Amino acid sequence: MDLYEYQGKELFRRFGIPVSEGRLVDTPEGALAAAKELGGPVVVKAQVLTGGRGKAGGVKLADDPADAEAKANGILGLDIRGHVVRKVWIEQASEIAKEYYLSITFDRGAKKPLLMFTTQGGIEIEQVAEENPEALVRLHVDPLEGFQPWVARAIVYGGRVEDQSEQKQIAAIVEKLYRCFVEMDAMLCEINPLIVTPSGEVKALDSKFTVDDSALFRHPDVAEWRDVTAADPIEAFAREQDVTYVKLDGDVGILGNGAGLSMSTVDVVAHVGGRPANFCDLGGGGDAEGVVKALEVVTRDPQVKSIFFNIFGGITRCDEVARGILAALDRLDMSRYPIVVRLDGTNAAEARTILAEAAKPNVYPEETMLDGARRAVELAGTA
Ligand code: GDP
Ligand code: MN
Repeated sequence: MDLYEYQGKELFRRFGIPVSEGRLVDTPEGALAAAKELGGPVVVKAQVLTGGRGKAGGVKLADDPADAEAKANGILGLDIRGHVVRKVWIEQASEIAKEYYLSITFDRGAKKPLLMFTTQGGIEIEQVAEENPEALVRLHVDPLEGFQPWVARAIVYGGRVEDQSEQKQIAAIVEKLYRCFVEMDAMLCEINPLIVTPSGEVKALDSKFTVDDSALFRHPDVAEWRDVTAADPIEAFAREQDVTYVKLDGDVGILGNGAGLSMSTVDVVAHVGGRPANFCDLGGGGDAEGVVKALEVVTRDPQVKSIFFNIFGGITRCDEVARGILAALDRLDMSRYPIVVRLDGTNAAEARTILAEAAKPNVYPEETMLDGARRAVELAGTA
């Protein structure tokens, strides 16, 4: 689950990482009132789940409350790469002397959290990594060893921070961010920029924060922060139905069992020149109920022209899935979709017999994943 900047900053604040005081509002009048309360110049920041808001005109400084109202009026309703701004965060403006970068991500390859720091903040971190790799400090933390003080020192010295007060403050922030990352079950905590003010104070001016969905039950307050209005409506419906679904941009609806097989199916469809409409994982089951739910989700996408079931029977028996598909077809009107079915593994032969006997005119059994993908792509074109 991706958090909004203001939510990430709330978590930073709880862990003692310095952030500016601010208010969340959804109207220009709210911005006026917030700016009055905060006093002095403020910054008006679009709250959308995408980065690069500054460049897109979603972050503006305002000198006084009336200006904050005007700036909020300009930002609310703005479309930033498909994300419409519904809320703005009004924050006491900071003076910036330097912009640094600090993040922790989960490095799956190394199976460890990865700390990254550079004093070349304010620009895209990918650009720093490419053009100036020696300026980017990368350091893994062994989760069994836990955080050790030398880690913070290695970050600060590795990044060639010379000012002693900055060194101290950054080292403290690194340690707090690591605690925040672990205790919140985060997948990403990024501060870009981490600023130094002219008076030498270090603080987080932005936050990018992702919490592991599987751990949300441990953070019920954070789980409640999910903004259902911002989610893709089909993805929200899928979540309600307990179906793993990711919307893609093509026309072949894909249903696989298991995340690995579903992802491979997406690749194979792309490999044969098709465009997957989604990634949909039926999960371990394959009973009629699960198949109906998944088909309900997939067919809500108006871009879907054909459907490709790619099932590998293990514990899931193919004959059960075949019966599930037929039961689902009885319950839902699927006549306008060509449905390609490739079943392999446990009881595949029985499954094929069941499908052959049912002789549904829009069901096309195929023996291999490659043939199934080709057929589904072809049928999407003619549908
Ligand atoms: P992003 O563009 O989505 O990453 O949004 P940020 O929160 O990082 O803001 C973009 C840029 O706006 C920052 O890199 C700063 O240069 C600038 N900015 C944000 N807040 C302030 C502030 O309080 N004072 C000043 N002077 N600039 C700010
Ligand atoms: Mn930023």
